[in-house]
Amino acid sequence: MRRIAIVGAGQSGLQLALGLLETGYDVTVLTNRTADEIRNGKVMSSQCMFHTALQTERDLGLNFWEEQCPAVEGIGFNLVDVENGGKVFQWNARLERYAQSVDQRVKMPYWMEEFQRRGGKLVMQDVGIDELEQLTQDYELVLLAAGKGEVVKQFIRDDERSTFDKPQRALALTYVKGMTPFSPYSRVNFNIIPGVGEYFCFPALTVNGPCDIMVFEGIPGGPMDCWQDVKTPEQHLEKSLEILKTYMPWEAERCHNVSLTDAGGVLAGRFAPTVRKPILTLPSGRQVFGMADALVVNDPITGQGSNNAAKCSKIYFDAILANDNQAFSPEWMQQTFEKYWDYAETVVAWTNSLLAPPQPAMLEVLSAGSQNQAIASVLANNFDDPRLYAPWWFDTAEAQKFIASKTNTTMAQVA
Ligand SMILES: Cc1cc2nc3c(=O)[nH]c(=O)nc-3n(C[C@H](O)[C@H](O)[C@H](O)COP(=O)(O)OP(=O)(O)OC[C@H]3O[C@@H](n4cnc5c(N)ncnc54)[C@H](O)[C@@H]3O)c2cc1C
Repeated sequence: MRRIAIVGAGQSGLQLALGLLETGYDVTVLTNRTADEIRNGKVMSSQCMFHTALQTERDLGLNFWEEQCPAVEGIGFNLVDVENGGKVFQWNARLERYAQSVDQRVKMPYWMEEFQRRGGKLVMQDVGIDELEQLTQDYELVLLAAGKGEVVKQFIRDDERSTFDKPQRALALTYVKGMTPFSPYSRVNFNIIPGVGEYFCFPALTVNGPCDIMVFEGIPGGPMDCWQDVKTPEQHLEKSLEILKTYMPWEAERCHNVSLTDAGGVLAGRFAPTVRKPILTLPSGRQVFGMADALVVNDPITGQGSNNAAKCSKIYFDAILANDNQAFSPEWMQQTFEKYWDYAETVVAWTNSLLAPPQPAMLEVLSAGSQNQAIASVLANNFDDPRLYAPWWFDTAEAQKFIASKTNTTMAQVA
């Protein structure tokens, strides 16, 4: 039986561990937080996942919350008119297949326990270089899936693939009950507030049932980079509502009766989006292979991190199975990562494009969505596979071609 160690009990590590275990591998997961610490701790993410990523969980029988978790049925978009109030334009479109967000405080502890129930070995350990050295002696393959943990900084930054060296947004999460739902379908409602930042919100499942998650993305130094003096969860909620009242009264309207889900339902922080080289060579010369956020960490502005983690996990799972009885060589690691990067590259480019001042092509297609429902539908549904935004998201001539193709089709259909 092949022996594999995975460091990190998050979306990518646990999904891979559970998949390999079911396929007959001897899998050990090492992680630095117990199930109860996660369950009783603070929120970590807004973790909205779209159809293809959700399907990778369903394929492994890990979709335990599919019935209880509210469906996210569409995407709404508003460009806020900061000077005059109101919106410059807006669109809404249904997703062909729903998205869902299960609080990681619900999902990860349950998956950890499920992993043990199915016979996996779960070890509580804060893993550093010494422990990695030991693991590479004891296991045929050691994967580091430690997300944003300090240890991932041991991977060398890939300067060519990394666009930023500083955080691009001041991030905050506020989990609430009592938000007025959208009708006729639920959605991620995304607002761009030029010069200030972004705000989006959507339904989810948390530790005490259904909720809505507010995500704030403040441009550093701007008015939404405002969480430093917030000391209590109550102040955090108050600050969240103040932002909505100032810039997005239509969002504030939905929040007259909101309250925090629990004292852990808030988060504020920031990190630099980074791409790292996939192989860590230890002082002994042995190798550790990275995965998901440990290697490709994106700003949450496009809600892709958990989606990427699930898809990375699937690619690695398939590659491990296909490797049969051969060694997990550095060449195999590099090739496997490149398969993931084939997917992730455009996701990173698309995500980074939303962090920079808006480029003409992007504004043109977003604005076209407000005039043409077929375009709005493509813009919404491509969240499931952001590769489909290329090339027109990034190039004005391509954007015009794309808009023309949709406009002509729609006209032809009407005629
Ligand atoms: C504010 C915010 C909002 C987000 N919203 C979304 C969203 O809407 N949609 C989406 O798809 N993604 C979203 N994300 C991103 C998403 O949460 C992450 O990309 C995803 O969880 C990454 O999965 P992972 O397996 O790589 O790492 P993680 O899920 O972070 O797991 C890392 C694991 O490693 C463990 N660990 C760390 N260091 C060590 C160590 N030294 N030793 C042992 N164990 C260790 C941790 O305890 C944890 O178990 C958001 C992120 C943030 C910060």
